[in-house]
Amino acid sequence: MSIALNTPPRRVAIIGGGPAGLMAAETVRAAGHTVDLYEAKGSPGRKFLIAGKGGLNLTHSDAREVFVSRYRERADAVGGWLADFDGEALRAWALAFGVDTYVGSSGRVFPVDRKAAPLLRGWVRRLKEQGVRFHVQHRWTGWDDAGALRFETPEGTTTITADAVVFALGGGSWPELGSDGAWVAPMTASGVDIAPLKPANCGFDIGWTPYFSERQAGAPLKPVVAHWTDLQGEPRSLQGECVITATGIEGSLIYALSADLRDSLARDGQVTLQLDLLPGQTEAQVAEKLQKPRQGRSFGEVLRRQLGLGGVKSALLFEVMGREAGQLPLDQIAHGLKRLPLALQRARPIDEVISTAGGVRLEAMDAQLMLRGRPGTFCAGEMLDWEAPTGGYLLTACYASGLRAGRGVVAWLAQA
Ligand SMILES: Cc1cc2nc3c(=O)[nH]c(=O)nc-3n(C[C@H](O)[C@H](O)[C@H](O)COP(=O)(O)OP(=O)(O)OC[C@H]3O[C@@H](n4cnc5c(N)ncnc54)[C@H](O)[C@@H]3O)c2cc1C
Repeated sequence: MSIALNTPPRRVAIIGGGPAGLMAAETVRAAGHTVDLYEAKGSPGRKFLIAGKGGLNLTHSDAREVFVSRYRERADAVGGWLADFDGEALRAWALAFGVDTYVGSSGRVFPVDRKAAPLLRGWVRRLKEQGVRFHVQHRWTGWDDAGALRFETPEGTTTITADAVVFALGGGSWPELGSDGAWVAPMTASGVDIAPLKPANCGFDIGWTPYFSERQAGAPLKPVVAHWTDLQGEPRSLQGECVITATGIEGSLIYALSADLRDSLARDGQVTLQLDLLPGQTEAQVAEKLQKPRQGRSFGEVLRRQLGLGGVKSALLFEVMGREAGQLPLDQIAHGLKRLPLALQRARPIDEVISTAGGVRLEAMDAQLMLRGRPGTFCAGEMLDWEAPTGGYLLTACYASGLRAGRGVVAWLAQA
C-alpha cells in the first residue's frame, strides 16, 4: 500500500534491521521516500531468527485489555501503538507471506511451521523489491560534530546525512546477534534520556550446593505454583513450569515474575520466592498424609509413596530444608512442601537473558516516537523503555512501535 506524497521524496535512514526497523522501513518506503537501512551484522533479523528456534511465538490471543496490561507501567503508551497494529494485525501480516498461524494451548500464537526464516526471507525480499536499500556491516557509532550519522564499516568510518532517522537498535541481550546496547553510550552523551538497561525475562541465581547443582541442573520443575509479593506489596501466585539451572532457576514461570523479582531485589537487597511443589493438594491434606506411620521407610520413600513427590522436587526439598528434613515437625515439612522458600541472589546477566528492560525513556519522545530533543529522529522496538513477559508480547510491541515511528516520520516530513 502506498500513500501519495504531498512533499518531494526525502531520504530516510533506518538503523537496525530487526522487526522494528524493518517495519519502520516498510512504512516509510510505502509513502514514497527513499529508504536506506543500516545494519551492524552481515544480515538483518538475527535475533528474530533465533526466536524461531523456540518456535517463534509471534503474538498472543489475549483479549485487548489483558494483552495491554502485560506492558505493566507502560500499558497506556504501548496500548496506543497496539491500537494501530495488534496481534490480529500481526497474524494477517504473516499470512500475507503465506504463513498461517495457530493459537497454542497457552493462548500463544505461532506460525504453523514454527519457523522464522520463511517470514524473514519473504519480508527482506519484499522490502528490496519495494526499493529499500540494505547496507549491512554498518555499525552506527554516534553523531559527528556536524550532526551526521557515523558508521563503522569494513572499509572504515563513514558518515551519512538523512532527512529523518529511525533508530531500532534492539536491547542488550544476546549481543552476538547484533543488539549489544552499545548505542546507549553515544545517545547518552548526546543528551538522550535513557533508563539503564536491565535484564528482563531472566533467570536468577540461588547458589545451590555442588551436590544439588551437579545432579539437578536442567531438570524441569512442573507443575509448581510460585508465590511472591509484587512491587506494591500485594501477594501474588502463578502456576507454571520452571527449570533448575547450575546456579539457580529459570523458565517461563520465572520469566513471568522476573520484573517484580528483579526490582524487589534492587529495592530491598533480597527477595524470596516460595514454591508450592504439590499444587493439587492442600497443606492440611499434605500434613495428614505425612502423619501415616513410616514403617521404617526412608523419608524420601515416604514422600514418593504418600505424596507422589519424587525426582527433582524431592531433591529440592532436601536442598532447601536440609538432609535432615525428614526429622522436622510434620507441620513444618507440610508447610515447606507448599511454600518452599527460595532466596534469590541476583538476576542472570543481561547477555544471556531473553530481553532487556530500560532504554530510551518514552517521556523523551512525542507520541509518534520522535525524540523531543532531536527533531526528525525517531526510535522504535526493544530499545525503548518498556518491557513485557514472553508470550509474543515483545515482538508485537516491536512491530507496532516500528509502524508508529514509520508513520511519525512520514507525518513529520510532510510538515517539515
Ligand atoms: C532466544 C530469544 C528468543 C526470543 N523469542 C521470542 C519470541 O518467541 N517471541 C517474542 O515476542 N519475542 C522473542 N524474543 C525477543 C524478540 O526477539 C526481541 O524483542 C525483538 O527481536 C526486538 O526487536 P527489535 O527490532 O527492537 O530489535 P532486534 O531484533 O534486536 O534488532 C535490532 C537490530 O539492530 C542492529 N543493531 C544494533 N546496534 C546497531 C548499531 N549500532 N548499528 C547498526 N545496527 C545495529 C542489530 O544487529 C539488530 O539486527 C526472543 C529473544 C531471544 C534472545
